[in-house]
Formats: sequence, C-alpha cells, structure tokens
Amino acid sequence: MTSTAFITHRDCQLHDMGSYHPECPDRLTAISDHMIAQGVDSYFAYHDAPLASFQHLRRVHPAAHLERVKRASPELGIVHLDPDTAMNPHTWKAALRAAGAGVLAVDLVMAGEVQNAFCAVRPPGHHAERESAMGFCFFNNIAVAAAHALEEHKLSRVAVVDFDVHHGNGTEDIFKGDQRVLMVSTFQHPFYPYSGTEKPASNMLNVPLSRDTDGEEFRQVVSELWMPRLREFQPEMIFISAGFDAHYEDEMGGLRLLEKDYAWVTGQLTELAEECAQKRIVSMLEGGYALSALARSVVAHLRVLADF
Ligand SMILES: [Zn+2]
Repeated sequence: MTSTAFITHRDCQLHDMGSYHPECPDRLTAISDHMIAQGVDSYFAYHDAPLASFQHLRRVHPAAHLERVKRASPELGIVHLDPDTAMNPHTWKAALRAAGAGVLAVDLVMAGEVQNAFCAVRPPGHHAERESAMGFCFFNNIAVAAAHALEEHKLSRVAVVDFDVHHGNGTEDIFKGDQRVLMVSTFQHPFYPYSGTEKPASNMLNVPLSRDTDGEEFRQVVSELWMPRLREFQPEMIFISAGFDAHYEDEMGGLRLLEKDYAWVTGQLTELAEECAQKRIVSMLEGGYALSALARSVVAHLRVLADF
C-alpha cells in the first residue's frame, strides 16, 4: 500500500498575486521538481484536489465571509483584499481547491486508503480568520479539514500543529475555546501577525520564539512543551499546518530551522500518530518562500510521512 496521499491541483498554480509576490506559483513547481529530482515522486498516491463546498467552508467561516470573497473575485486583473492578499481571476477556484484538498485528505485517511496525506496547495490558510482574509490566506484550509474530521467523521479530539514562522492567528480564532481541538504552535515573536501571546485560550499552546532561534532550541520546545501536552490530549487525528518559512534560508522570517529539523518534528508527530491516532495525519502546506529551501524541506517532511 502506498501509505501517503499527495493532493494538489493545477488551479492552485493559476492563483497569482503579482510578479514580485513571494507567495507565488513557482512554490508548487519547486516542490514537484525537487520530488522528481530526488526520485521520490513515485512513492505517493496522487489525487486532484476537489472544490470545497459551501457546506465544508461554513463549518469555520460565516456565509458573509464567503460571499465577500466571492464578490471580490475579479474577471480581469488583480484586486487587493489587504496590502498582502490579492485575488486574480483564478484565485476563487484555487482557494476552493486548497480547502477541498484537506477535505479529501481527511476522507482518504479516515477510509484507510492511506495512513496520511500531504496537500501541496496554495493559497495557504492559517491566517484566515472566521470573518477575514489576510496574510495571503482566504479560507482556513487546515481548520476546514479539522472541522470535517470532527463533524463528518465524528472524531472527538483532533490536534492542530503549526510550525510556520508566523503565528496561525486564523486557526486560533476559529478553534479557541473548542475543547475538541488542541492547537500547539511555534512562531517567531514579535513578528507578523503580532498575535498569539496575549492570554491564549486553554486549548492553545503557543510558544513564541525569539529571532535567531535554531533547530536545537526548537526541538527542545517540541520535546518539553508540545509532546507532553499532545500525549495527554490523545488526539484521534493530527493536522499539520506545514509552513517552511522558519527555515534558515528563508528571508521572510528570522528563525534558523533546517530540513533535518522538519524531518525530526515530523518523526515526533508520526510516532504520536501511531500511539493514539491510528497513524492518521493530514499535513497542509502553509508558508515557505525560499524556493530551494522550501522544496528540500517538503521532501524531508514527505520522506518521514511516507516512511522511506
Ligand atoms: Zn508563514
């Protein structure tokens, strides 16, 4: 059995916020090219991401937000929703594919077709709050996926793990106080979006990291803070907001993680998933803007997920 699904869609490469925008279509090309170059592309079960339905999205966003994004969608050119977040004529569909990828990932994993799944999608999602698009994000992909596991598949406890260099303010906004969800995160602080440190809800374990934090310190945080809390919670499925912009080579942020750190943390999570979650993991791409470092980090992450 191929143990890992790889879910993406060509529409995700058509979303383009302008030629100098770091959240660019080449990110996905860099990942697939590096998978081929490394000879790992044949290890995955490939699926096209379906469009998320309004019903899927409504679990975490009010109808007014969906309508607002849909109405903003241009027929030509680029429209800005905030200074960093823009739509071209393909964005609406790409955003539905990105969220739909997570829904399909959950269905495949719950059906036992695969043990885990990686969604190579854009736009990313973890900054999208219940009622607002921001920070390159329109819909909160990982939250849509986690809500699908809770509502459709009737799981009672899921964990969301977020190691992107930026705080996942959107995911926190959606799940704060929801005791079916434990969110653990690390992020550079102080740094965009300047959230996550003021009295987080009891189901949020946010660990701010100062600039220049390296892999050794990151691993210590994961071992000493994340893992005991995750083991106590006993999630039935683990969701990863997999942003790779905390990489040393990524100039978006100032942390110093390397591929081997992403492989290590993925290993910690696959061990946990084996202990309590029947190996179920759904990982979704968030940030990562230094193309070479992004591609290498994703492949390091995938090698551990697929166990080769
Ligand atoms: Zn980020």
